[in-house]
Amino acid sequence: MRQPALVQYALEPLAVELRDVAIPEIGDADVLLRVGAVSVCGSDVHQAYNTHSWPVSVPVVLGHEFAGTVARAGREVKRFREGDRVVSETAADVCGECLLCRTGRYNLCPQRKGFGYGIDGAMASYVRVPARCLHAIPDALPFSIACLAEPHAVAYNAMCVNSTIRPGDFVVVLGPGPIGLLCARMAALAGADPLVVVGLSSDAPRLDTAIRLGATHAIDAQCEPLEEGIRRLNPLGADLVCDATGASRPLDVALTLARPGGQVTKVGWSPDRVAVDMTPLVQKNVTLQGSFSHNFPVWERVIHLLERGRTLPDEIVGMKAPLDAWRDAFEAMHDGRVIKSILVP
Ligand SMILES: [Zn+2]
Ligand SMILES: [Zn+2]
Repeated sequence: MRQPALVQYALEPLAVELRDVAIPEIGDADVLLRVGAVSVCGSDVHQAYNTHSWPVSVPVVLGHEFAGTVARAGREVKRFREGDRVVSETAADVCGECLLCRTGRYNLCPQRKGFGYGIDGAMASYVRVPARCLHAIPDALPFSIACLAEPHAVAYNAMCVNSTIRPGDFVVVLGPGPIGLLCARMAALAGADPLVVVGLSSDAPRLDTAIRLGATHAIDAQCEPLEEGIRRLNPLGADLVCDATGASRPLDVALTLARPGGQVTKVGWSPDRVAVDMTPLVQKNVTLQGSFSHNFPVWERVIHLLERGRTLPDEIVGMKAPLDAWRDAFEAMHDGRVIKSILVP
């Protein structure tokens, strides 16, 4: 049996095409998932343009943000059966034996491989998924929203697990991309106030979205001196600065904007190595925290929030397209015309 799949076949710009590939075989502990919707991640776009900073084993089917229906379940699968509606986590392969796996922090397993770069992903009709990755979703939650659970989980882990936000805390989010906007939404739900989202002039529509998602202020850092804007709200600086720019350099800015005793959480990164002034980190006793991926309890929380409509996911979806229109969907995100595209295979 064959299917169309969006394959990255080489480590060169635009070495991506729709190919006719075999429908995957499944093992006893896997399910075959009929993909209902798969959202395009910034990382898919980076891989398509060959600007990614992580190892990709080509050829590989792209896509790691997906929801669908169990089409077939392996013999050892007990929690799911044919017809169940599910979303899948992204840690497609982990060792299951190391300290991190055994303590439920399998997202940090040194042998972790994810869908869409190390293991074939979901930009296809069917994808093979180990059953341990699955979460049931309610019937009322459409696939086109459920597939956004993954970026929601990234934001929840960054803001609500790896950072501390109390009602009335002053939170700044740098970078209004999909992850930055979802981080801002999580901060709003956690009671951040003021909540400032910072972008560039080209981000104007995204800064408007940030306000609709609950930011109290949006700052265009190319038009307005950023540090002054922050100190006007509180002369000490922010309790928490989340750097979701996906670049390395803004770490300096984040450390400057944090108040003494504050936190800086870095989510998303680039391979650039930058010189950073350590003075504010040490002198202000700032806690610097990286945040990577997510695990089981985070997914359960996020699915609950999606079911309750608490995160306003429609605000970030700009395009829904069939799989063969993938080029439009990728380009729209690459050019910044939409925040997030969704493919319906
Ligand atoms: Zn993603
Ligand atoms: Zn492990």
